[in-house]
Amino acid sequence: MNDETPTRTTAATPLTVTVGATPMIEQFIEIKAANPDSLLFYRMGDFYEMFFGDAETASRALGITLTKRGKYDGRDIPMCGVPVHAADDYLQKLIGLGHRVAVCEQMEDPAEAKKRGSKSVVKRDVIRLVTPGTITEDRLLAPSESNYLMALGRVKDSPQDAYALAWIDISTGAFRVCETDAERLASDIFRVAPKELIVADPVFHDPDLRPVFDMVGRAVSPQPPSLFDSASAPGRIARFYDVATPDSFGTFSRAELSAISGAIAYVEKTQKAERPPLERPEREQAGSSLFIDPATRANLELLRTTSGNRDGSLFKAIDRTVTGAGARLLADRLMAPLTSPDAIVARLDAVSFCGAEPKLCEGLRAALKRVADMPRALSRLALNRGGPRDLGALTAGFAAATEIAQLLDGAVLPAELDDARSAIRALPKNFADHLARSLADELPLLKRDGGFLRPGYHGELDEMRALRDQSRKVIAGLERGLIEETGIRSLKIRHNNVLGYYIEVTANHRDIMNGTDAAKARFIHRQTMANAMRFTTTELAELETKIANAADRALSIELAAFEQLVAEAVSHAGAIRAGAAALAVFDVSSSLAVLASTENYTRPIVDDSLAFCIERGRHPVVEQALRRATESAFVANDADLSPEGNAKYGAIWLLTGPNMGGKSTFLRQNALIAILAQMGSFVPATKAHIGVVDRLFSRVGASDDLARGRSTFMVEMVETAAILNQASERSLVILDEIGRGTSTFDGLSIAWAAVEYLHEKNRSRAIFATHFHEMTALSVKLSRLHNVTMRVKEWEGDVVFLHEVGMGAADRSYGVQVARLAGLPDAVVERARAVLDQLEQGEQSGKADRLVDDLPLFSAVARKEPPQPKKTDALGAALSAINPDEMTPREALDALYRLKTMGDGKI
Ligand code: ATP
Repeated sequence: MNDETPTRTTAATPLTVTVGATPMIEQFIEIKAANPDSLLFYRMGDFYEMFFGDAETASRALGITLTKRGKYDGRDIPMCGVPVHAADDYLQKLIGLGHRVAVCEQMEDPAEAKKRGSKSVVKRDVIRLVTPGTITEDRLLAPSESNYLMALGRVKDSPQDAYALAWIDISTGAFRVCETDAERLASDIFRVAPKELIVADPVFHDPDLRPVFDMVGRAVSPQPPSLFDSASAPGRIARFYDVATPDSFGTFSRAELSAISGAIAYVEKTQKAERPPLERPEREQAGSSLFIDPATRANLELLRTTSGNRDGSLFKAIDRTVTGAGARLLADRLMAPLTSPDAIVARLDAVSFCGAEPKLCEGLRAALKRVADMPRALSRLALNRGGPRDLGALTAGFAAATEIAQLLDGAVLPAELDDARSAIRALPKNFADHLARSLADELPLLKRDGGFLRPGYHGELDEMRALRDQSRKVIAGLERGLIEETGIRSLKIRHNNVLGYYIEVTANHRDIMNGTDAAKARFIHRQTMANAMRFTTTELAELETKIANAADRALSIELAAFEQLVAEAVSHAGAIRAGAAALAVFDVSSSLAVLASTENYTRPIVDDSLAFCIERGRHPVVEQALRRATESAFVANDADLSPEGNAKYGAIWLLTGPNMGGKSTFLRQNALIAILAQMGSFVPATKAHIGVVDRLFSRVGASDDLARGRSTFMVEMVETAAILNQASERSLVILDEIGRGTSTFDGLSIAWAAVEYLHEKNRSRAIFATHFHEMTALSVKLSRLHNVTMRVKEWEGDVVFLHEVGMGAADRSYGVQVARLAGLPDAVVERARAVLDQLEQGEQSGKADRLVDDLPLFSAVARKEPPQPKKTDALGAALSAINPDEMTPREALDALYRLKTMGDGKI
């Protein structure tokens, strides 16, 4: 067997040959050496094969059989492979697991290689590196998630190094860049949430940046520093965009040039010959979006919950978009709320407009539902990975856009929607018409299947198709004629890729070829099978040539037309992308209007004051979850941190209350309301006035970070330190339970000092939840600090949560009651109550240390008489004894009176 013979015909039946270091394996080793970080998909016939360590890794990751092929250095070469037609599924899995894959294709027909000698190897080359940040295939991408590749640029500068980030979504062409600094770096990375972050090797190994890269995890990929060279960046950018100089793109700092260069160089490195149609890099003003540090982002569960699910996130609760591009824009806005009141008001105006025009909004959304993912289709087409359905996606988008433009005709729109309408109107009409005229209604997935051009579009194509189809009818006639002539009813004319068309009869009719001289001359033997005989005739062979020629010609016409349509699409890339972005704006604005009306949200006032006044605010996620699970209503609460009277700065609320009282929910809801308002959404409240927040900090819920060697307490302190070091008077700070992971006095002291610092130094608007009731005394000393509490009612020794925030301080923690509700064994609850009593008395009399002697241990508690059934139990027993189906109305009334008397405590 030739070394180049495809190794298998099915995934399950590999053929193994024993060879030495064949030229083919040598070729593999050479290509692999040039791509050491990637698994090498080495094309052999209909399979991508992997060898050596790659095969072992992939077989484990994909759960496919590991086989062997030949020997190298006296050892078996491990091998596994995936069929080309199913490669996307395997790629998806490998990329999802964090692998990179180098796709190595055959660059010539194996027949060509054979001409050079039987031992020569087919030319192969890596045509693409598939990495998490550079995928474009629909099946590998989540429709509602952007897929950003980010590059970090750093240039030495004085007094501090300068940093910039550039991020690209190859699947849509989006390209942005912003300056950042060491302090904001993590926040800016997490705001974009890239699937892959590339950094120059020396930057990757800088110990100061290690904590940032650790947080980003395996998505970080170190690259040669040459990719990020800011001096050669203008040349690289100019070459990529095919312009003389990139000056017209704007003025970029050296750090920005380095980041842009890194991103472009990586695209070139991974996409090899193909160029995705990237937008020109668009500069984002530093500080134009709300600073949210990574811990806050994770705590607030904006796009995903802390366990990584979309369900339960803020995004899921507010997403009413109907297109993939709309959902991506909504997610981008949610991750980067604005800080300019004017820009926020412009977005809010767009939502208000849609809310005030429900009929128009409904029409828009019906049309938007028919929009396919135009930017992603366009990118695939430009990268030579597109198919007829990608052209179809453009047609569908153009049609919907025309409908939307008509709906909006004459409407007086707010600025943001007006701009969007202009972009929709600027979609290339002639190309849209051309595409609509050329594409058939039903489109195949692959262009090589043909049949995607509309009948009537191309004269010669129609002729060839007719010829091909006619010939097929002629073949059917030929078959009928042969059956009649030979009397063999089972005679068939079939087709396969090896023989082409052939006549087949069962083995027992094989003598039809030899019966007469005429038959001998007519039937030409092709193949003898175990049970059948195959032959052809001159007539059939001629017909076959005619059919094949017609089909070939038809396909080549279609392929040429496809290339032409793709070229036309790419030439309009800018306008198509802008139009698609405009459709996404309509999707987001109308979806937020729908959200506001169905969920009863209100338009916030956002300005540059320091106000933070929320009336009857609700938690957007808990509210919906409660409704789904229990149909019970969420209890709305006010929050007012605005500067009072002549105060220059906002207030701090010190929130006390029992466990499970709703403190965390209240803290979070106010942070989420600020985010929603600043992303340009209405908010869950009856009124909201927010002086724009520059930085949002939230420390809610503690978790340890053992992988990075930090205990829960350490994580808490690191996060608190970040807040106290960075928060300004324009910031909003949400702090939950500082200082709980240490001894009471330590914890109390830290919490106490932190609140004083927040009040005196940071002067931020803040809500601080605590179990240290002692801290409520601070309100006497700190003028802008107010005590608030989560209200509860006590009933029968149990605690009832009202979830209401009221002014004042909680009298106690109710921790023991909550523990009882959680199902702690009675003995433990009783014991805890006794310890608590003693502790409280001890605290008052200074004798807490005598506790150990004074209290009996569990054994004593456990020996106590079992508690008498409580009144509620007796009531329960009486209730379960009642069977309403068997009672007369009179008996039912009597029973009701009896139960009432029991409930009132008279029994
Ligand atoms: P802990 O101190 O134990 O962390 P907590 O005081 O922070 O408790 P939350 O976790 O905020 O309490 O709330 C507990 C539960 O109470 C929530 O899961 C939610 O179901 C419910 N809840 C909280 N706030 C409200 C509200 N305003 N209306 C209705 N239910 C609420």
